[in-house]
Amino acid sequence: MPYSNVPDIKMPLPGPKAKAVIEADDKYISSSYTRGYPMVIVRGLGLAAEDVDGNVFLDMTAGIAVNATGHSHPRVVRAIQDAAANFQHMSGTDFYYPLQSTLAKMLAERTPGKSDKKVFFCNSGTEAIEACIKLARWKTGRPWVLSFRGAFHGRTYGSMALSASKAVHRTRFAPIMPAVVHGNYPYPYRAAPHLDTPEKVADDCLKYLTDTVFRREVNADEVAAIFVEAIQGEGGYVVPPDNWLPGLRELCTKHGILLVVDEIQTGMGRTGKFFAHDHWGIEADIIACAKGIASGMPLGAVIAKADVMQWPPGTHASTFGGNPIACAAAVETIKLLDEGLVENAGKVGGHLIGKLKEWAGTCDRVGEVRGRGLMVAVEFVKSRDSKEPDPALRNAVEQTAFKRGMLILGCGANNIRFCPSLTITEAEADKAVEIFAASVVDAVKG
Ligand code: PLP
Repeated sequence: MPYSNVPDIKMPLPGPKAKAVIEADDKYISSSYTRGYPMVIVRGLGLAAEDVDGNVFLDMTAGIAVNATGHSHPRVVRAIQDAAANFQHMSGTDFYYPLQSTLAKMLAERTPGKSDKKVFFCNSGTEAIEACIKLARWKTGRPWVLSFRGAFHGRTYGSMALSASKAVHRTRFAPIMPAVVHGNYPYPYRAAPHLDTPEKVADDCLKYLTDTVFRREVNADEVAAIFVEAIQGEGGYVVPPDNWLPGLRELCTKHGILLVVDEIQTGMGRTGKFFAHDHWGIEADIIACAKGIASGMPLGAVIAKADVMQWPPGTHASTFGGNPIACAAAVETIKLLDEGLVENAGKVGGHLIGKLKEWAGTCDRVGEVRGRGLMVAVEFVKSRDSKEPDPALRNAVEQTAFKRGMLILGCGANNIRFCPSLTITEAEADKAVEIFAASVVDAVKG
């Protein structure tokens, strides 16, 4: 049943049933999770998310940029049900089934660049990154991998070593994987004043790789791969200047380094192109994807140039990777993306950014509104002149928005991100901006 009134908050939050669930959760669930507010979902449809007490929220998170087709899209639900009724598992590692090759072909055909592609399936983003590290080392015979400060690539040992966004991700987990170095990701809003155009910021970061990393830390010919997010996600939805990815592509080609683009958050149409790096016209050697790929079913994929993914049988595999139910959800998701959702992400995303920018003009606590498609961030500062980050205000806005019935998430230290389902309408985007503006007023008042 579609929800006619979104949001619809019927009581002070959390309601009584939510409180009971949270109590049980506190007792039995790992304390490592980072729940920002007490949202206890029981069902949803599209962008509407209903909690256990019957309150309905406008979901601008899509479950951390995952539900590409919205909550419980009827066609995705049907695809999952049909696949489950046929068979639930047979392990693509040891057996064949048509869904895997169908999905691999769909992904390969939608990946930028002329080279033939091959696909490896796993279950999550971090597993995709681990597979990329292994593949890059296997292909090149080189030990080192490079990523960027502010990056988030996952939480297992290899991906954790590549990540450099928050110290807590690594605290008390050392020793982490060795042979990793970091460069700087271009963040124009926070760059030194003399770098007064976005292009100069990216050039400076490229120069840091050649003049510092490759000169002082590791020889370029010992580097297997450079891992880069097309748009930095957890780091703050940082959209790079136009010369960044082409510059990295050139550097990689020059030194025989594989360019691995992490499209885990940016991919599957979210930015208005199937893969975000296509905005900059480059071809990656390897791509990691997960999150939106199967509308919430656990699935990850590594898509590589066919002449890179040549590892022999036994080198890498996964019991559950490419599970038939997840593959069926992914095939249906891609059909929906093709039928208009990618285009919608670009269109409504542009509308959302425009509306937020218009509103931000009236609010001195917003340093920048930025984004591409439906990856949109608002950066909070103490004042526009000082640019001093204001994480407390950002945290408060998450809470006040929740009370007003909208789900949003933070990214970086002081940004709110909007990463809704690709089914979002302009009316829903307008509603989100209206609630957001009111929530900022509430938060500033305290
Ligand atoms: N890479 C990026 C860019 C991400 O945003 C994330 C998760 O937020 C990951 C990797 C890790 O994905 P997962 O949580 O599925 O392991």
